[in-house]
Amino acid sequence: MDDLLQGYEERAFDGEAIGKLGKTNYSGIKSEYKVFTVRAEGEQRVEVCVRFIPAFSPYVKAGTFLLPVFRHELRAVEGRFGMMVLCTNPQHNAFVKSDEGCRICAALRKYAHPDAWQYFKVKRPWLLTWIIDRDRMSQGPMLWYFPKTLVEDLNVMAGRKCAGRDIAHPLEGYDIVVSRSGTGFNTRYRIVDFDGPKPLSSDRNDMREWLKYVKDHPIHDVFEPVSAEDQDLFVSRALSMLYPDGVPDGDGGSPVSAADELDDELPF
Ligand SMILES: [Zn+2]
Repeated sequence: MDDLLQGYEERAFDGEAIGKLGKTNYSGIKSEYKVFTVRAEGEQRVEVCVRFIPAFSPYVKAGTFLLPVFRHELRAVEGRFGMMVLCTNPQHNAFVKSDEGCRICAALRKYAHPDAWQYFKVKRPWLLTWIIDRDRMSQGPMLWYFPKTLVEDLNVMAGRKCAGRDIAHPLEGYDIVVSRSGTGFNTRYRIVDFDGPKPLSSDRNDMREWLKYVKDHPIHDVFEPVSAEDQDLFVSRALSMLYPDGVPDGDGGSPVSAADELDDELPF
């Protein structure tokens, strides 16, 4: 038995570090904000009805109401996400105010390992939006990382049902019905229906309150500051996956060209 284990080196699963970052940085959003998710019910298909609220932010292109957010993602056990850290490189996230840039992006440039990009590269943006959940309107505006795979669906459906209209318009916009099926990396979202045109709320006071809230809390300003400590923890975990036997001496000299492939999968 012992000889089977010869050369095997036990490596402790660092649940504490993952837990720490997983909790505070999973969404990257300050805890005072409500974050919406379409909850999985096993393999069963779930439908939700939501309404976009216009975003009052110079970083959101007119007519899109979706803020692209770039994050570094590190997959851990069984393809689940271990860490996500907002990229503080202003080239990626224009709304981030950072004096020293992003230490994770810097690590990509530093290590010569051909797979370094897999761990350090900033991934295709997640899209953040304000919504109202029609089943829980009393919650008021919530933030939703709108699945980017749904953007195409949204375009197709909008073209068919309300071409040229503003679907987030407070008075003449559209509710959207979204379905979710599957779990984990097999999760699929579809847009099932558009419902409208109709007002954001039939109650003018609610509508005024929600719009004021979103105006007072610009969508680019809802993020937790990213500490150098969190970035360094990400880098050290990524390095331990990249170099399971330890970072060799002498690496860190030549730059790596990042592959153009992008990660399309989302864990939710
Ligand atoms: Zn970065």
